[in-house]
Amino acid sequence: MSKRTKGTCTYCGKTYTKNPMVKHLLSCEARLQAWTHAGENQKTAGYFVLLISGTYRPQYWLIAEIKDSAKLNDLDQFLRDIWLECCGHMSGFKIAGVRYESHPEATMGWGIQDKGMTSKLANVIAPGMVFEHEYDYGSATALTITVLEHHTGQTKKEKVAVLARNHPVQYSCDECEKNTAIMICLECAYDGYGFLCDDCREDHECGEELLSPLYNSPRSGVCGYEGSVKYPD
Ligand SMILES: [Zn+2]
Ligand SMILES: [Zn+2]
Ligand SMILES: [Zn+2]
Ligand SMILES: [Zn+2]
Repeated sequence: MSKRTKGTCTYCGKTYTKNPMVKHLLSCEARLQAWTHAGENQKTAGYFVLLISGTYRPQYWLIAEIKDSAKLNDLDQFLRDIWLECCGHMSGFKIAGVRYESHPEATMGWGIQDKGMTSKLANVIAPGMVFEHEYDYGSATALTITVLEHHTGQTKKEKVAVLARNHPVQYSCDECEKNTAIMICLECAYDGYGFLCDDCREDHECGEELLSPLYNSPRSGVCGYEGSVKYPD
């Protein structure tokens, strides 16, 4: 899967693939207007802009803005809400060689001193850094996060805002190899295939109960993932 997926800029509505979108957003007029035109009395806050991609599924990507006073917990929660949460698995960040765990008590017994996720972003990341996030150490979904920039802008109510994300990825059916897939077989997905179109799903040998709809997430087809409620595609 080397298909490049496009996304839409939430400020001006233009569509680009991932890297052109990064360039676009950093200079998007509509976006710059929105945060530089803070009134005299308006409060300002520092924000990081992050590019987040599936490490092994880079066709899934998003660009988000997050307050620099937010904690790693907030970023973890955002990633769970938009892309990851299935059954409350553990997760962790690896930043500059240090691990920050969602359940630091779980590894304590092994003599490892992992940190929790209470650090403020401003204290652990900076523009130009690349760091990792992993959700579920069994059937892991790994994300690579690049810190694109830091700026001061008008304070927003939300800690995190999505600036752009990939449109749903189109896969072709692995059986007829011609129609667009609408489901994935969770059993076959372990072996790297299992995309099925509407015509082929009924005759699939593993049975209908193993079929899952496709979700716009790098966790689509993994464990019990059932899409995002808070951030529909
Ligand atoms: Zn734009
Ligand atoms: Zn799960
Ligand atoms: Zn088919
Ligand atoms: Zn199957």
